[in-house]
Amino acid sequence: MRTDLQEQFNSLYGKDATETFFSPGRVNLIGEHIDYNGGLVMPCAITFGSYLLVAPNNENVFRFKSLNFNEQAEVLLQADHKKTGEVWYNYPLGVISYFQKDGKNLQGLDLLFYGDIPIGSGLSSSASIEVVTAFALNDLFNAGYSKLELVKLSQAVENKFIGVNCGIMDQFAVAFGEKDKALMLNCDSLDYQAVDSNLGDYLLAIINTNKPRKLAESKYNERVQECQTALAALKQELDINYLCDIDTETFGKYKHLITDAVVQRRAKHVIEENDRVKLAAKALSNNNLAEFGRLMYASHQSLRELYEVSGIELDTVVDYAKTNPNVAGARMTGAGFGGCAIALVKKDAFGKFSEEVTAYYTDKIGYAPSVYASHIGDGVGILNEVVAGK
Ligand code: ADP
Ligand code: MG
Repeated sequence: MRTDLQEQFNSLYGKDATETFFSPGRVNLIGEHIDYNGGLVMPCAITFGSYLLVAPNNENVFRFKSLNFNEQAEVLLQADHKKTGEVWYNYPLGVISYFQKDGKNLQGLDLLFYGDIPIGSGLSSSASIEVVTAFALNDLFNAGYSKLELVKLSQAVENKFIGVNCGIMDQFAVAFGEKDKALMLNCDSLDYQAVDSNLGDYLLAIINTNKPRKLAESKYNERVQECQTALAALKQELDINYLCDIDTETFGKYKHLITDAVVQRRAKHVIEENDRVKLAAKALSNNNLAEFGRLMYASHQSLRELYEVSGIELDTVVDYAKTNPNVAGARMTGAGFGGCAIALVKKDAFGKFSEEVTAYYTDKIGYAPSVYASHIGDGVGILNEVVAGK
């Protein structure tokens, strides 16, 4: 793979790349719809992601090429770069622009991107491409940012340059991910703990429903609003800033303050899910995958019944998983209404799992899912410290 990319770089630019960087995608293992409620999420980096090969040019120009897209571009180095239409290279261009806004001195580069991560499926190829670019520029031009600063800069690019209103979890996970560790993270305080997550005989199956994500944004905003309503009701008697400031037991005592039954169900999901994340961290660090799997199923059921953000496609994947004795647990991951589900599947049973879930899903839904075998991988980094010509 790496040699092949180097060859592609060479045939495109007529020289070798001087460095290769990699940034993974991510999945959220558990802790869904929690980030905007002051609680804990638990993402990890996956072993699919984005490669970036670069070489300096002395021409004050950025050349952008991605093996995943047709458009390629040459952009002259200038003081203030603006977003151009809806092209893919707005992502690296936005990162360049934010380095410059911050007074960092950049020079021309030839860049080649390649992602083996499914793009636009909720595995955060966007955060991956932002963070790999930011990490590379920081390294090449000695810009002196900490990893956390690169995370914040990448999120700002996605929010303000691209115009997608995402939280910080994605960029954080792809930057700080570690092999065989999950990141238990509070998205407000950014306190986090790397939780030992040796999956042993299991791997992380990712099942993309291939459903176009349509409803997601309006329903997401509706849920945020419902959580605010629930919080305001609880605040009549409790001195809290977020729903996740209380646990399941306290919620039981005060839930009557939330008079709307639907809103009460939303709050119940959030507070119980936050408690589940803590239990999940314990289970993982004790290598108790059976318990972790049980929590995954419980999370899914809560998202399906209390929070109502699942849907027939994601439910079909999880319903199938429950019938397979080689699966420890499964759940939807991400905002819902499509996107991906994850499952912990015995390594030697993955082939059969993939075939069976595909058949079951296709029969029910009318088109096939895509199924990937992943592991918990490392965050952003340099792939080759020493390369030809350097
Ligand atoms: P995701 O769920 O994968 O993050 P997004 O819609 O947020 O989906 O981001 C996908 C966009 O990120 C692509 O349309 C493209 O603009 C950019 N992107 C991601 N990976 C690559 C890549 N390998 N090469 C070029 N652009 C990429
Ligand atoms: Mg994205």
